[in-house]
Amino acid sequence: MTKKAGWNRSYALRNFQSGEPVVKNITPDQIESIVDTAIAVRSNAYAPYSNFLVGAAVLLADGETIISGCNVENASYGLSICAERNAICQTVAQFGQKTNIAAIAVAATPLATPCGACRQFIAEFGMDIQLICVDPNDKTKRNHFTAEDLLPHGFTKDVLDR
Ligand SMILES: [Zn+2]
Repeated sequence: MTKKAGWNRSYALRNFQSGEPVVKNITPDQIESIVDTAIAVRSNAYAPYSNFLVGAAVLLADGETIISGCNVENASYGLSICAERNAICQTVAQFGQKTNIAAIAVAATPLATPCGACRQFIAEFGMDIQLICVDPNDKTKRNHFTAEDLLPHGFTKDVLDR
């Protein structure tokens, strides 16, 4: 994969419900890069209580920058943080106001979608963020969503801007 694989070739992924194309301007190579990153970072997950290992990888809108995160649990269960929020926090820590998320891959087995808290957290950074949920044991098992798919009619910063 060339680093600047480009945004000129759309990836004809389909919405899981409507069948409409949802992942635009992201190449198959870019998708596979974040899928592979999410799968790799999953092995760093700290999940001694649930043993449910999750990896996540953020792709920025530049099409090449990838930031990863894993879930980190705690003996005080409620303090545990999911891989998606970990990856987003690391992204914001590195890029601040320049944070512009195009896509997030999430690796978990069995195949899972982000929890409610993560859906809200993702929506903060754009309802058009593409989500690729993949089973690390079989990469053909995957689902594709937008943030809007997972949090329809969500509460977003637009309400506070009024
Ligand atoms: Zn979560």
